[in-house]
Amino acid sequence: MIRVLDHGPIRQFRMARNLWGKGVYWTAAYLVDGLLIDTGCAYTAGELTEALKHQTVRQIVNTHSHEDHIGANGVLARERGIPILAHPLALPVLAAPRSSLALRWYQRALWGRPEPSLGRPIPDEIATPNHVFQVIPTPGHSPDHMALFEPQKGWLFSGDIFVGGRDRTLRSDYRIGQIIDSLKRLLILGPKLLFTASGSIRSNPEADLAEKIRYLEETGGRVRELAQAGMNIKDIRNRLFGREMAMRYYTGGHFSGLNLVRSFLADPPTP
Ligand SMILES: [Zn+2]
Repeated sequence: MIRVLDHGPIRQFRMARNLWGKGVYWTAAYLVDGLLIDTGCAYTAGELTEALKHQTVRQIVNTHSHEDHIGANGVLARERGIPILAHPLALPVLAAPRSSLALRWYQRALWGRPEPSLGRPIPDEIATPNHVFQVIPTPGHSPDHMALFEPQKGWLFSGDIFVGGRDRTLRSDYRIGQIIDSLKRLLILGPKLLFTASGSIRSNPEADLAEKIRYLEETGGRVRELAQAGMNIKDIRNRLFGREMAMRYYTGGHFSGLNLVRSFLADPPTP
């Protein structure tokens, strides 16, 4: 299912697989001045293509190569010849998503397997008729993650590097130190309006980013203190995050509190 909402000149497409009449796990794409930022998952590729039918789309940027951001790349490139721009590390994944993305069952159930597409390496800036977007490398969620920032308007498209909330779990391949560094990189831009890939739109992004950085740094500090005092990672998790959330079980351990503790210890942020 798809929901289309306009925020001034920015059109948001919120998309989710329709399971038993309910949208499950929403992701968002944005269209601004002919630039399409992300393309949702494979299950919603047809709906997004239909919603874009009468829209001018000159180029596509994938914030990263996860399966819920590249799902309509193939059909939009094939049917409309729209060029796709992504981080160089993302390009092999776009070209062969079925072999590159080792999707777990929950990922196949929620988002499906994307069609292959050919992308080009993204430049440092993307020009549209009325705007120039800076491309901000923001690794941590994935090595190929990028955010887009329009400095005149203060618009920040954060992909999945900032989706809000207080993390109590982490995916096993995320790097928490890099995530904190990337959030700091976004904060110093001084954004005025933040568009997340989960669909929430933040009108006070500097406060939201600062709060997230504070929470993660404080939590990381406590994890390291407890580890230095000799506590094992399971007890640290229990002390700071409580028992594992349901997400640990339905993702087969891909997301867990233990992963978050491990990442704080293995990958501290840059001092
Ligand atoms: Zn992602």
